[in-house]
Amino acid sequence: MKKSEMYDCLVVGCGMAGTVIARELAERAGKKILILEKHDHIGGNACDFMDENGILVHRYGPHIFHTNCKRVFDYLSRFTQWRDYSHEVVGNIYGQLLPIPFNLNSLHLAFEPNKAEHIEQKLIDIYGFGSKVPILELRRQPDAELAQIADFIYDNIFLYYTQKQWGLAPDEIDSLVTARVPVFISYDNRYFQDTYQGIPAQSYTSLFERMLDHPNIELLLNSDARNLLQLEAGEIFFEGCPFNGTVLYSGPTDELFDCRYGRLPYRTLDFVFETLNTTWYQSKGTVNYPVDQEYTRITEFKRLTGQALDGRTTIVKEYPRAYTGTDSETPYYPIQTLANLTLYERYRKLTDEFPQLHLMGRLAEYKYYNMDAIVKKALEFVDALLL
Ligand code: FAD
Ligand code: UDP
Repeated sequence: MKKSEMYDCLVVGCGMAGTVIARELAERAGKKILILEKHDHIGGNACDFMDENGILVHRYGPHIFHTNCKRVFDYLSRFTQWRDYSHEVVGNIYGQLLPIPFNLNSLHLAFEPNKAEHIEQKLIDIYGFGSKVPILELRRQPDAELAQIADFIYDNIFLYYTQKQWGLAPDEIDSLVTARVPVFISYDNRYFQDTYQGIPAQSYTSLFERMLDHPNIELLLNSDARNLLQLEAGEIFFEGCPFNGTVLYSGPTDELFDCRYGRLPYRTLDFVFETLNTTWYQSKGTVNYPVDQEYTRITEFKRLTGQALDGRTTIVKEYPRAYTGTDSETPYYPIQTLANLTLYERYRKLTDEFPQLHLMGRLAEYKYYNMDAIVKKALEFVDALLL
């Protein structure tokens, strides 16, 4: 039998999108699935591994699972137990550590008691205790004292960090990006307030291994779909033969069409790992550097994973820069400006000619998704396909 006839579905990419869809189609519909993954590992951006010092690290930066969706949490809980972990982040502002998102604790640390009390009351009166206010909204506040606080937060938390991360100022990027970290009128120092949050008790990689452990799923690592799939005149070819099944693609959509209209812009990161001969390096899982340094943040993995190990610890620094499309780079963050979204839409329209082809995931949809949003979309995609 030709390879193209052996499978009902080809999945490109073994990240969260590809893996959940493969498992669901295999399990709920008995489909035979082949996953093509260009890297030598599973898990996509959520991949983790034991480093040479025996410390569990996240290959592509800190990944903390959080969701309000019970279905998503229950689904992943079939494949992992959880370490109960609530992520906390502080910003290093000229040596002073302030909780991020900026909240009432940050306010009291940054300002003298009378002023902090007074501003706190104003914030509560205007927005209500427990509310979350995007910084760009707070900056539009007509009250002079609140406008001054908004400027302080903007200048010390958002401006330089965003310039480093995106190469753009906060008001030049989609306002939803900085709204991910709103000013929080509360004393809650957690980075996320979702109902369910944690880290896979063993590892993300074990979670993926268990999802992939199904007799109907076959996985080819080191297999770039660009060398194996061709899209021509409404037909998809796999290794040169017509393929009539479903194709689920979770890579960058411009690459499906040889970037014929030019590359979709992304930001990438250089991750610099260091292992230090000390039990702990910093007080929180992540410390952000919003006013200085070339890196945006430092994460200490043992704080996330709870791994007990005396005398050494591994940290990672994240250095953002423009993605240029070379094979050694990974596109991490779509830059959702109007021009880029318009370019994306030109590529997406090309897929209309291929009804068997589905785009899913952070790259394929050019959207700034968290893991839980991808899992939810993948589950709902399979619901719809099996109706
Ligand atoms: P990916 O994980 O990118 O998977 C796509 C896969 O497709 C990759 O394995 C890639 O190698 C493969 N691929 C691409 N092109 C091809 C090709 N041509 N042939 C074969 N294979 C191909 N989310 C959270 O919920 N919490 C967090 O704390 C969090 N932290 C993050 C930190 C960083 C630094 C980054 C970058 C992201 C973070 N995320 C976080 C987001 C999370 O990583 C994504 O939501 C998730 O990985 C998206 O899954 P995906 O399957 O869409 O994409
Ligand atoms: N941000 C910032 N300063 C911070 C934290 C976040 O300016 O200390 C802005 C920045 O633009 C960043 C965005 O808020 O890209 C979203 O932050 P988040 O932590 O959600 O980014 P991610 O974890 O996805 O990289």
